Amino acid sequence: MIVLNLTCANRHPFEGWFASADEFARQSATKLVSCPYCSDANITRLPSGPHVKRAVATADATAAKLLAAVADLARNSENVGTQFPEEARKIHYAEIPPRSIRGIATATEVKALIEEGIAVLPLSIPAKGEVH
Ligand SMILES: [Zn+2]
Repeated sequence: MIVLNLTCANRHPFEGWFASADEFARQSATKLVSCPYCSDANITRLPSGPHVKRAVATADATAAKLLAAVADLARNSENVGTQFPEEARKIHYAEIPPRSIRGIATATEVKALIEEGIAVLPLSIPAKGEVH
């Protein structure tokens, strides 16, 4: 037995139990299937699980937006490489004018920066997404 999501010409949604999808096709072609609400016999099968597909599409869009934001950040900041912890400190203590920087820091260096109250955003950008 399979359960199909069905709808009539008046858009009443209901479930139909059939031996198989072929059996539903045969019964609906001969008008043996009718709407439990209005007895309409023009029954169409709804695509199964459209909500699941929509949810995946939304997640993809969110990930794409996030990647775009990261790429923007990378483009609009100066790559200071391994000088990152030192530059971040200078900016924090106003030794140099503030600017957006990005670079490389070890986990220990990042921890030290955070402990000093310096806002750093650890980001892992795939190597091929790096913008120079
Ligand atoms: Zn109906």
